[in-house]
Amino acid sequence: MHDYPDLQLYIGGAWRKTGETLRVINPATEEETGRLPVAATADLDDALEAAAKGFSVWRRTAPMERARIIRAAAALLRERIGTIAADITREHGKPLQQARLEVIRGAEFFEWDAGEAERLYGRVIPSEPGIRYIVHHQPIGTVAAFSPWNFPLSQPARKVAGALASGCSIILKAAEETPAGAWHIARAFHDAGLPAGVLNLVFGVPAQISEYLIPKPQVRLVAFTGSTVVGKHLTGIAARHAKPVLMELGGHAPVIICEDADAQKAGVVSAIRKARNAGQVCTSPTRFFAHENVFGAYRDAFVARAMAVKVGNGLAPETEMGPTANHRRVEAMEMLVADALAKGAKLLCGGKRPKGPGYFYPVTVLSEVPDDARVMQEEPFGPLAVINPVRSLDEAIARANSVPYGLAAYAFTSSAANVDRITDEVEAGNVSINTLEASVAATPFGGVKESGFGREGGAEGILHYTVVKTVSHRME
Ligand code: NAD
Repeated sequence: MHDYPDLQLYIGGAWRKTGETLRVINPATEEETGRLPVAATADLDDALEAAAKGFSVWRRTAPMERARIIRAAAALLRERIGTIAADITREHGKPLQQARLEVIRGAEFFEWDAGEAERLYGRVIPSEPGIRYIVHHQPIGTVAAFSPWNFPLSQPARKVAGALASGCSIILKAAEETPAGAWHIARAFHDAGLPAGVLNLVFGVPAQISEYLIPKPQVRLVAFTGSTVVGKHLTGIAARHAKPVLMELGGHAPVIICEDADAQKAGVVSAIRKARNAGQVCTSPTRFFAHENVFGAYRDAFVARAMAVKVGNGLAPETEMGPTANHRRVEAMEMLVADALAKGAKLLCGGKRPKGPGYFYPVTVLSEVPDDARVMQEEPFGPLAVINPVRSLDEAIARANSVPYGLAAYAFTSSAANVDRITDEVEAGNVSINTLEASVAATPFGGVKESGFGREGGAEGILHYTVVKTVSHRME
Protein backbone atom coordinates (compact mmCIF):
# COMPACT_ATOMS: atom_id res chain seq x y z
CA MET A 1 0.00 0.00 0.00
CA HIS A 2 1.11 3.59 -0.65
CA ASP A 3 2.67 5.61 2.19
CA TYR A 4 0.52 7.80 4.42
CA PRO A 5 0.99 11.40 3.15
CA ASP A 6 3.89 13.61 4.15
CA LEU A 7 1.58 16.24 5.64
CA GLN A 8 2.36 19.94 5.36
CA LEU A 9 0.55 23.19 5.96
CA TYR A 10 -0.87 24.91 2.88
CA ILE A 11 -0.52 28.70 3.01
CA GLY A 12 -0.67 31.22 0.17
CA GLY A 13 -0.73 28.48 -2.46
CA ALA A 14 2.48 26.81 -1.17
CA TRP A 15 3.20 23.75 0.96
CA ARG A 16 5.06 24.39 4.18
CA LYS A 17 6.90 22.14 6.64
CA THR A 18 7.02 23.09 10.31
CA GLY A 19 9.64 22.77 13.01
CA GLU A 20 7.23 21.12 15.39
CA THR A 21 5.28 17.98 14.52
CA LEU A 22 2.92 15.65 16.40
CA ARG A 23 2.12 11.97 15.96
CA VAL A 24 -0.86 10.76 13.93
CA ILE A 25 -2.01 7.45 15.43
CA ASN A 26 -3.72 4.53 13.71
CA PRO A 27 -6.58 3.77 16.15
CA ALA A 28 -6.71 0.10 15.07
CA THR A 29 -3.10 -0.55 16.11
CA GLU A 30 -2.18 2.45 18.29
CA GLU A 31 0.94 2.80 16.13
CA GLU A 32 2.16 5.99 14.51
CA THR A 33 0.91 6.32 10.95
CA GLY A 34 2.27 9.81 10.16
CA ARG A 35 3.44 13.17 11.47
CA LEU A 36 1.31 16.27 11.81
CA PRO A 37 2.81 19.72 11.12
CA VAL A 38 2.04 22.23 13.90
CA ALA A 39 1.54 25.86 12.89
CA ALA A 40 3.42 28.58 14.78
CA THR A 41 2.03 32.09 15.21
CA ALA A 42 4.08 33.29 12.23
CA ASP A 43 2.35 30.65 10.07
CA LEU A 44 -1.05 31.93 11.20
CA ASP A 45 -0.04 35.52 10.41
CA ASP A 46 1.02 34.38 6.94
CA ALA A 47 -2.27 32.54 6.50
CA LEU A 48 -4.22 35.68 7.44
CA GLU A 49 -2.27 37.79 4.98
CA ALA A 50 -2.57 35.18 2.25
CA ALA A 51 -6.31 34.81 2.86
CA ALA A 52 -6.81 38.58 2.55
CA LYS A 53 -4.99 38.56 -0.80
CA GLY A 54 -6.84 35.44 -1.88
CA PHE A 55 -10.17 37.07 -1.05
CA SER A 56 -9.41 40.14 -3.15
CA VAL A 57 -8.80 37.87 -6.18
CA TRP A 58 -11.54 35.30 -5.59
CA ARG A 59 -14.37 37.73 -4.89
CA ARG A 60 -13.74 39.21 -8.35
CA THR A 61 -13.62 35.81 -10.03
CA ALA A 62 -16.73 35.05 -12.08
CA PRO A 63 -19.09 32.56 -10.38
CA MET A 64 -18.86 30.22 -13.37
CA GLU A 65 -15.08 30.19 -13.11
CA ARG A 66 -15.28 29.53 -9.35
CA ALA A 67 -17.68 26.70 -10.05
CA ARG A 68 -15.36 25.29 -12.72
CA ILE A 69 -12.41 25.11 -10.31
CA ILE A 70 -14.54 23.62 -7.52
CA ARG A 71 -15.87 20.94 -9.88
CA ALA A 72 -12.34 20.21 -11.10
CA ALA A 73 -11.16 19.70 -7.51
CA ALA A 74 -14.15 17.43 -6.81
CA ALA A 75 -13.28 15.39 -9.90
CA LEU A 76 -9.73 14.94 -8.58
CA LEU A 77 -11.08 13.74 -5.22
CA ARG A 78 -13.19 11.16 -7.05
CA GLU A 79 -10.19 10.11 -9.18
CA ARG A 80 -8.03 9.68 -6.06
CA ILE A 81 -10.67 7.89 -4.03
CA GLY A 82 -8.64 4.74 -3.41
CA THR A 83 -5.65 6.59 -1.94
CA ILE A 84 -7.73 9.03 0.07
CA ALA A 85 -9.98 6.33 1.54
CA ALA A 86 -6.99 4.27 2.66
CA ASP A 87 -5.44 7.33 4.34
CA ILE A 88 -8.70 8.08 6.14
CA THR A 89 -8.97 4.48 7.35
CA ARG A 90 -5.40 4.52 8.64
CA GLU A 91 -5.89 7.68 10.70
CA HIS A 92 -9.55 7.30 11.70
CA GLY A 93 -10.20 3.55 11.77
CA LYS A 94 -13.45 3.40 9.77
CA PRO A 95 -13.93 0.57 7.25
CA LEU A 96 -12.49 1.29 3.82
CA GLN A 97 -15.90 1.07 2.20
CA GLN A 98 -17.26 3.79 4.53
CA ALA A 99 -14.17 5.91 3.85
CA ARG A 100 -14.87 5.61 0.12
CA LEU A 101 -18.48 6.69 0.65
CA GLU A 102 -17.21 9.65 2.64
CA VAL A 103 -15.00 10.76 -0.26
CA ILE A 104 -17.99 10.55 -2.62
CA ARG A 105 -20.13 12.52 -0.16
CA GLY A 106 -17.41 15.17 0.12
CA ALA A 107 -17.21 15.43 -3.67
CA GLU A 108 -21.00 15.82 -3.78
CA PHE A 109 -20.84 18.72 -1.32
CA PHE A 110 -18.41 20.49 -3.64
CA GLU A 111 -20.44 19.72 -6.74
CA TRP A 112 -23.65 20.93 -5.13
CA ASP A 113 -22.15 24.19 -3.89
CA ALA A 114 -20.48 24.77 -7.28
CA GLY A 115 -24.02 24.86 -8.68
CA GLU A 116 -25.14 27.17 -5.90
CA ALA A 117 -22.31 29.57 -6.81
CA GLU A 118 -23.95 29.95 -10.21
CA ARG A 119 -27.40 30.45 -8.66
CA LEU A 120 -26.54 32.99 -5.97
CA TYR A 121 -29.21 35.37 -7.21
CA GLY A 122 -30.00 38.75 -5.77
CA ARG A 123 -33.33 40.46 -6.44
CA VAL A 124 -34.86 43.65 -7.75
CA ILE A 125 -37.48 45.21 -5.50
CA PRO A 126 -40.44 46.81 -7.31
CA SER A 127 -40.23 50.58 -6.92
CA GLU A 128 -41.55 53.92 -8.14
CA PRO A 129 -40.24 55.08 -11.54
CA GLY A 130 -36.77 56.59 -11.48
CA ILE A 131 -35.36 54.53 -8.67
CA ARG A 132 -34.15 50.92 -8.48
CA TYR A 133 -33.62 48.84 -5.35
CA ILE A 134 -31.28 45.91 -5.92
CA VAL A 135 -30.30 43.30 -3.34
CA HIS A 136 -26.94 41.55 -3.73
CA HIS A 137 -25.45 38.57 -1.89
CA GLN A 138 -21.75 39.32 -1.59
CA PRO A 139 -19.07 37.09 -0.02
CA ILE A 140 -18.56 37.90 3.66
CA GLY A 141 -14.74 37.78 3.61
CA THR A 142 -12.21 35.41 5.11
CA VAL A 143 -13.71 32.47 6.99
CA ALA A 144 -11.99 30.81 9.96
CA ALA A 145 -13.21 27.20 9.90
CA PHE A 146 -12.67 24.38 12.38
CA SER A 147 -13.53 20.82 11.37
CA PRO A 148 -13.66 17.70 13.59
CA TRP A 149 -12.14 14.24 13.41
CA ASN A 150 -15.18 12.06 12.78
CA PHE A 151 -15.33 12.66 9.00
CA PRO A 152 -11.83 13.74 7.98
CA LEU A 153 -12.84 14.67 4.43
CA SER A 154 -16.56 15.38 4.30
CA GLN A 155 -16.59 17.67 7.36
CA PRO A 156 -13.99 20.11 6.00
CA ALA A 157 -15.56 19.71 2.53
CA ARG A 158 -18.82 21.27 3.78
CA LYS A 159 -17.04 24.41 4.95
CA VAL A 160 -14.57 24.78 2.11
CA ALA A 161 -17.41 24.27 -0.40
CA GLY A 162 -19.63 26.97 1.11
CA ALA A 163 -16.78 29.46 1.45
CA LEU A 164 -15.29 28.96 -2.01
CA ALA A 165 -18.63 28.83 -3.81
CA SER A 166 -19.70 32.17 -2.34
CA GLY A 167 -16.39 33.90 -3.18
CA CYS A 168 -14.86 33.87 0.31
CA SER A 169 -11.34 32.84 1.23
CA ILE A 170 -10.87 30.40 4.09
CA ILE A 171 -8.36 29.41 6.73
CA LEU A 172 -9.22 25.84 7.66
CA LYS A 173 -7.95 24.34 10.88
CA ALA A 174 -8.71 20.70 10.38
CA ALA A 175 -8.66 17.96 13.01
CA GLU A 176 -5.22 17.11 14.34
CA GLU A 177 -6.09 13.45 14.87
CA THR A 178 -7.36 12.93 11.31
CA PRO A 179 -5.59 15.45 9.06
CA ALA A 180 -5.34 13.57 5.74
CA GLY A 181 -8.83 14.31 4.39
CA ALA A 182 -8.33 18.08 4.62
CA TRP A 183 -4.81 17.71 3.21
CA HIS A 184 -6.22 15.85 0.18
CA ILE A 185 -8.79 18.63 -0.30
CA ALA A 186 -6.03 21.26 -0.33
CA ARG A 187 -4.03 19.15 -2.76
CA ALA A 188 -7.01 18.73 -5.08
CA PHE A 189 -7.66 22.49 -5.14
CA HIS A 190 -3.96 23.22 -5.64
CA ASP A 191 -3.92 20.86 -8.64
CA ALA A 192 -7.21 22.28 -9.94
CA GLY A 193 -5.62 25.75 -10.18
CA LEU A 194 -7.21 27.58 -7.24
CA PRO A 195 -5.58 31.03 -6.92
CA ALA A 196 -3.06 31.35 -4.08
CA GLY A 197 -4.43 32.25 -0.65
CA VAL A 198 -8.08 31.36 -1.31
CA LEU A 199 -7.75 28.14 0.71
CA ASN A 200 -5.25 27.86 3.55
CA LEU A 201 -4.83 24.79 5.74
CA VAL A 202 -3.29 24.77 9.21
CA PHE A 203 -3.06 22.35 12.14
CA GLY A 204 -1.92 22.89 15.69
CA VAL A 205 -3.27 23.42 19.18
CA PRO A 206 -7.01 24.04 18.57
CA ALA A 207 -7.56 26.54 21.39
CA GLN A 208 -4.46 28.55 20.50
CA ILE A 209 -5.40 28.75 16.82
CA SER A 210 -9.05 29.66 17.37
CA GLU A 211 -8.25 32.27 20.01
CA TYR A 212 -5.62 33.80 17.74
CA LEU A 213 -7.58 33.82 14.49
CA ILE A 214 -11.14 34.71 15.52
CA PRO A 215 -10.39 38.24 16.83
CA LYS A 216 -8.32 39.18 13.75
CA PRO A 217 -9.97 41.84 11.57
CA GLN A 218 -9.55 39.80 8.36
CA VAL A 219 -11.75 37.02 9.77
CA ARG A 220 -15.42 37.79 9.10
CA LEU A 221 -17.12 34.44 9.87
CA VAL A 222 -16.42 31.58 12.27
CA ALA A 223 -17.58 28.15 11.08
CA PHE A 224 -17.24 25.25 13.51
CA THR A 225 -18.35 21.63 13.74
CA GLY A 226 -17.75 19.82 17.01
CA SER A 227 -19.04 19.58 20.55
CA THR A 228 -21.62 21.95 22.01
CA VAL A 229 -19.26 22.99 24.80
CA VAL A 230 -16.52 24.08 22.37
CA GLY A 231 -19.10 25.66 20.06
CA LYS A 232 -20.42 27.84 22.90
CA HIS A 233 -16.86 28.85 23.77
CA LEU A 234 -16.04 29.88 20.18
CA THR A 235 -19.40 31.65 19.84
CA GLY A 236 -18.44 33.67 22.92
CA ILE A 237 -15.13 34.75 21.40
CA ALA A 238 -16.85 35.63 18.11
CA ALA A 239 -19.55 37.60 19.95
CA ARG A 240 -16.94 39.74 21.70
CA HIS A 241 -15.74 40.78 18.24
CA ALA A 242 -19.25 41.05 16.75
CA LYS A 243 -18.66 38.27 14.23
CA PRO A 244 -21.29 35.84 12.97
CA VAL A 245 -20.93 32.11 13.50
CA LEU A 246 -22.05 28.94 11.75
CA MET A 247 -22.22 26.20 14.39
CA GLU A 248 -22.86 22.49 13.79
CA LEU A 249 -22.75 21.04 17.31
CA GLY A 250 -23.70 17.90 19.17
CA GLY A 251 -26.78 15.75 18.77
CA HIS A 252 -28.53 12.97 20.65
CA ALA A 253 -30.85 11.63 17.99
CA PRO A 254 -34.10 9.96 19.03
CA VAL A 255 -35.74 7.24 16.94
CA ILE A 256 -39.48 6.69 17.39
CA ILE A 257 -40.77 3.26 16.38
CA CYS A 258 -44.55 3.56 16.08
CA GLU A 259 -47.00 0.76 16.71
CA ASP A 260 -47.75 0.52 12.96
CA ALA A 261 -44.08 0.20 11.86
CA ASP A 262 -42.41 -2.92 10.52
CA ALA A 263 -40.52 -3.32 13.80
CA GLN A 264 -38.35 -6.21 12.73
CA LYS A 265 -37.09 -4.42 9.61
CA ALA A 266 -36.60 -1.18 11.56
CA GLY A 267 -34.56 -3.03 14.18
CA VAL A 268 -32.14 -4.39 11.59
CA VAL A 269 -31.73 -1.01 9.86
CA SER A 270 -31.21 0.71 13.23
CA ALA A 271 -28.41 -1.63 14.31
CA ILE A 272 -26.60 -1.24 10.99
CA ARG A 273 -26.88 2.55 11.21
CA LYS A 274 -25.74 2.63 14.84
CA ALA A 275 -22.53 0.85 13.80
CA ARG A 276 -21.81 3.35 11.01
CA ASN A 277 -18.59 5.24 11.77
CA ALA A 278 -18.63 3.42 15.14
CA GLY A 279 -21.45 5.72 16.22
CA GLN A 280 -19.23 8.81 15.94
CA VAL A 281 -21.71 10.85 13.95
CA CYS A 282 -23.56 13.91 15.23
CA THR A 283 -26.72 12.44 13.66
CA SER A 284 -26.12 8.90 14.96
CA PRO A 285 -29.38 7.33 16.19
CA THR A 286 -29.01 6.75 19.94
CA ARG A 287 -32.26 6.91 21.94
CA PHE A 288 -34.72 4.38 20.52
CA PHE A 289 -38.32 4.65 21.75
CA ALA A 290 -40.39 1.67 20.58
CA HIS A 291 -44.13 1.36 21.19
CA GLU A 292 -44.72 -1.30 23.83
CA ASN A 293 -46.68 -3.49 21.38
CA VAL A 294 -43.70 -3.79 19.01
CA PHE A 295 -40.92 -3.28 21.54
CA GLY A 296 -39.98 -6.98 21.82
CA ALA A 297 -39.77 -7.58 18.06
CA TYR A 298 -37.80 -4.38 17.53
CA ARG A 299 -35.37 -5.03 20.38
CA ASP A 300 -34.71 -8.64 19.36
CA ALA A 301 -34.03 -7.74 15.72
CA PHE A 302 -31.78 -4.86 16.78
CA VAL A 303 -29.75 -6.95 19.22
CA ALA A 304 -29.35 -9.90 16.83
CA ARG A 305 -28.00 -7.61 14.09
CA ALA A 306 -25.82 -5.63 16.54
CA MET A 307 -24.19 -8.85 17.76
CA ALA A 308 -23.48 -9.87 14.17
CA VAL A 309 -21.57 -6.66 13.34
CA LYS A 310 -18.02 -7.61 12.35
CA VAL A 311 -15.64 -5.38 14.27
CA GLY A 312 -12.01 -5.14 13.17
CA ASN A 313 -9.31 -3.22 11.36
CA GLY A 314 -10.99 -1.02 8.76
CA LEU A 315 -8.51 -2.16 6.11
CA ALA A 316 -9.85 -5.75 6.28
CA PRO A 317 -12.59 -6.21 3.65
CA GLU A 318 -15.00 -8.04 5.97
CA THR A 319 -14.94 -5.32 8.65
CA GLU A 320 -18.28 -3.59 9.22
CA MET A 321 -17.18 -1.41 12.13
CA GLY A 322 -13.67 -0.24 12.96
CA PRO A 323 -12.29 1.01 16.26
CA THR A 324 -13.43 4.31 17.69
CA ALA A 325 -11.14 7.12 16.57
CA ASN A 326 -9.43 7.80 19.89
CA HIS A 327 -9.13 6.46 23.42
CA ARG A 328 -11.47 9.20 24.75
CA ARG A 329 -14.44 7.51 23.05
CA VAL A 330 -13.72 4.11 24.64
CA GLU A 331 -13.43 5.75 28.05
CA ALA A 332 -16.70 7.63 27.46
CA MET A 333 -18.49 4.38 26.49
CA GLU A 334 -17.20 2.59 29.59
CA MET A 335 -18.28 5.45 31.85
CA LEU A 336 -21.77 5.78 30.33
CA VAL A 337 -22.44 2.02 30.39
CA ALA A 338 -21.24 1.64 34.01
CA ASP A 339 -23.38 4.60 35.07
CA ALA A 340 -26.53 3.25 33.33
CA LEU A 341 -26.07 -0.27 34.76
CA ALA A 342 -25.57 1.15 38.27
CA LYS A 343 -28.89 2.97 37.86
CA GLY A 344 -30.78 -0.19 36.84
CA ALA A 345 -30.46 -0.46 33.04
CA LYS A 346 -30.24 -3.89 31.35
CA LEU A 347 -27.24 -4.73 29.16
CA LEU A 348 -28.46 -6.64 26.06
CA CYS A 349 -25.17 -6.95 24.17
CA GLY A 350 -21.63 -5.56 24.04
CA GLY A 351 -20.47 -3.49 26.96
CA LYS A 352 -17.00 -4.95 27.19
CA ARG A 353 -13.84 -3.64 25.59
CA PRO A 354 -11.94 -6.45 23.82
CA LYS A 355 -8.36 -7.28 24.79
CA GLY A 356 -5.44 -6.19 22.62
CA PRO A 357 -4.33 -2.96 20.97
CA GLY A 358 -6.68 -0.51 19.29
CA TYR A 359 -9.55 1.66 20.52
CA PHE A 360 -12.18 -1.00 19.89
CA TYR A 361 -15.57 -1.09 21.54
CA PRO A 362 -18.47 -3.33 20.41
CA VAL A 363 -21.97 -2.21 19.45
CA THR A 364 -23.60 -2.02 22.87
CA VAL A 365 -27.31 -2.06 23.56
CA LEU A 366 -28.87 -0.99 26.83
CA SER A 367 -32.55 -1.34 27.57
CA GLU A 368 -35.03 0.03 30.09
CA VAL A 369 -32.59 2.78 30.92
CA PRO A 370 -33.87 5.20 33.59
CA ASP A 371 -34.11 8.89 32.76
CA ASP A 372 -31.48 9.84 35.31
CA ALA A 373 -28.77 7.76 33.60
CA ARG A 374 -26.18 10.06 32.05
CA VAL A 375 -26.52 8.44 28.62
CA MET A 376 -30.09 9.77 28.41
CA GLN A 377 -28.73 13.34 28.39
CA GLU A 378 -25.11 13.11 27.23
CA GLU A 379 -24.25 12.40 23.61
CA PRO A 380 -22.34 9.10 23.63
CA PHE A 381 -20.64 9.69 20.26
CA GLY A 382 -19.83 6.01 20.02
CA PRO A 383 -21.50 2.64 19.31
CA LEU A 384 -23.95 2.80 22.20
CA ALA A 385 -27.74 2.46 21.83
CA VAL A 386 -30.56 2.78 24.35
CA ILE A 387 -33.86 1.01 23.57
CA ASN A 388 -36.78 1.91 25.82
CA PRO A 389 -40.49 1.00 25.51
CA VAL A 390 -43.12 3.77 25.34
CA ARG A 391 -46.88 3.58 25.72
CA SER A 392 -47.90 6.18 23.11
CA LEU A 393 -46.69 8.58 20.45
CA ASP A 394 -47.27 11.41 22.95
CA GLU A 395 -44.81 9.84 25.33
CA ALA A 396 -42.29 9.12 22.55
CA ILE A 397 -42.37 12.74 21.35
CA ALA A 398 -42.02 14.11 24.89
CA ARG A 399 -39.02 11.88 25.51
CA ALA A 400 -37.50 12.69 22.11
CA ASN A 401 -37.62 16.38 23.05
CA SER A 402 -36.28 15.91 26.58
CA VAL A 403 -32.63 16.76 25.80
CA PRO A 404 -31.00 20.12 25.08
CA TYR A 405 -30.06 18.88 21.59
CA GLY A 406 -32.10 19.05 18.40
CA LEU A 407 -30.07 17.95 15.38
CA ALA A 408 -31.44 14.78 13.76
CA ALA A 409 -34.54 12.79 14.71
CA TYR A 410 -36.01 9.70 13.11
CA ALA A 411 -39.24 7.73 13.09
CA PHE A 412 -40.56 4.51 11.63
CA THR A 413 -44.27 4.55 10.83
CA SER A 414 -46.70 3.84 8.00
CA SER A 415 -49.22 6.45 9.15
CA ALA A 416 -49.39 9.86 7.46
CA ALA A 417 -51.08 11.25 10.59
CA ASN A 418 -48.10 10.17 12.70
CA VAL A 419 -45.72 11.77 10.20
CA ASP A 420 -47.65 15.04 10.51
CA ARG A 421 -47.43 15.03 14.29
CA ILE A 422 -43.74 14.11 14.30
CA THR A 423 -42.98 16.83 11.74
CA ASP A 424 -44.78 19.44 13.80
CA GLU A 425 -43.74 18.43 17.29
CA VAL A 426 -40.28 16.86 17.28
CA GLU A 427 -37.62 19.50 17.94
CA ALA A 428 -34.86 18.86 15.41
CA GLY A 429 -33.33 20.50 12.36
CA ASN A 430 -33.61 17.27 10.36
CA VAL A 431 -36.41 14.72 10.72
CA SER A 432 -36.28 11.51 8.66
CA ILE A 433 -39.13 9.03 8.36
CA ASN A 434 -38.48 5.34 7.54
CA THR A 435 -34.84 6.16 6.79
CA LEU A 436 -31.87 6.89 9.03
CA GLU A 437 -30.21 9.20 6.50
CA ALA A 438 -30.35 12.73 7.94
CA SER A 439 -29.20 14.78 4.95
CA VAL A 440 -27.75 14.82 1.45
CA ALA A 441 -25.86 17.59 -0.34
CA ALA A 442 -29.07 19.08 -1.77
CA THR A 443 -30.87 19.35 1.60
CA PRO A 444 -30.07 21.88 4.32
CA PHE A 445 -28.51 20.38 7.44
CA GLY A 446 -28.20 21.83 10.93
CA GLY A 447 -29.60 21.95 14.42
CA VAL A 448 -32.01 23.70 16.76
CA LYS A 449 -31.62 24.26 20.52
CA GLU A 450 -28.03 23.56 21.61
CA SER A 451 -27.21 21.65 18.42
CA GLY A 452 -26.21 24.88 16.74
CA PHE A 453 -27.17 27.72 14.44
CA GLY A 454 -27.22 27.92 10.67
CA ARG A 455 -27.44 25.33 7.94
CA GLU A 456 -24.93 23.67 5.65
CA GLY A 457 -25.84 22.43 2.18
CA GLY A 458 -29.12 22.87 0.34
CA ALA A 459 -29.96 26.32 -0.98
CA GLU A 460 -29.52 27.80 2.52
CA GLY A 461 -25.90 26.82 3.21
CA ILE A 462 -24.14 29.23 0.87
CA LEU A 463 -26.08 32.21 2.23
CA HIS A 464 -24.22 32.03 5.57
CA TYR A 465 -21.03 32.90 3.71
CA THR A 466 -22.56 36.05 2.27
CA VAL A 467 -23.69 39.48 3.37
CA VAL A 468 -26.69 41.23 1.92
CA LYS A 469 -26.03 44.55 0.26
CA THR A 470 -28.95 46.71 -0.81
CA VAL A 471 -28.30 49.28 -3.50
CA SER A 472 -30.78 52.14 -3.99
CA HIS A 473 -30.13 53.76 -7.36
CA ARG A 474 -31.88 56.99 -8.39
CA MET A 475 -31.57 57.43 -12.17
CA GLU A 476 -30.12 60.78 -13.25
P1 NAD B 1 -13.71 18.22 22.25
O1 NAD B 1 -14.96 18.85 22.74
O2 NAD B 1 -12.43 18.51 22.97
O3 NAD B 1 -13.42 18.61 20.72
C1 NAD B 1 -14.40 18.60 19.72
C2 NAD B 1 -13.78 19.24 18.47
O4 NAD B 1 -13.50 20.60 18.73
C3 NAD B 1 -12.44 18.66 18.06
O5 NAD B 1 -12.38 18.60 16.65
C4 NAD B 1 -11.39 19.64 18.59
O6 NAD B 1 -10.22 19.69 17.81
C5 NAD B 1 -12.13 20.93 18.51
N1 NAD B 1 -11.75 21.89 19.54
C6 NAD B 1 -11.65 21.68 20.87
N2 NAD B 1 -11.35 22.82 21.52
C7 NAD B 1 -11.24 23.79 20.56
C8 NAD B 1 -10.97 25.18 20.59
N3 NAD B 1 -10.76 25.86 21.75
N4 NAD B 1 -10.94 25.86 19.41
C9 NAD B 1 -11.18 25.22 18.23
N5 NAD B 1 -11.46 23.92 18.15
C10 NAD B 1 -11.51 23.20 19.29
O7 NAD B 1 -13.96 16.68 22.27
P2 NAD B 1 -13.42 15.44 21.48
O8 NAD B 1 -13.05 14.40 22.46
O9 NAD B 1 -12.44 15.76 20.41
O10 NAD B 1 -14.77 15.03 20.77
C11 NAD B 1 -15.82 14.51 21.55
C12 NAD B 1 -17.07 15.29 21.46
O11 NAD B 1 -17.06 16.21 20.39
C13 NAD B 1 -18.20 14.34 21.18
O12 NAD B 1 -18.82 13.97 22.37
C14 NAD B 1 -19.11 15.08 20.27
O13 NAD B 1 -20.13 15.68 21.02
C15 NAD B 1 -18.30 16.19 19.71
N6 NAD B 1 -18.04 16.07 18.27
C16 NAD B 1 -19.05 16.44 17.44
C17 NAD B 1 -18.88 16.34 16.08
C18 NAD B 1 -19.97 16.73 15.14
O14 NAD B 1 -19.98 16.28 14.01
N7 NAD B 1 -20.89 17.60 15.55
C19 NAD B 1 -17.67 15.87 15.57
C20 NAD B 1 -16.65 15.52 16.44
C21 NAD B 1 -16.85 15.64 17.81
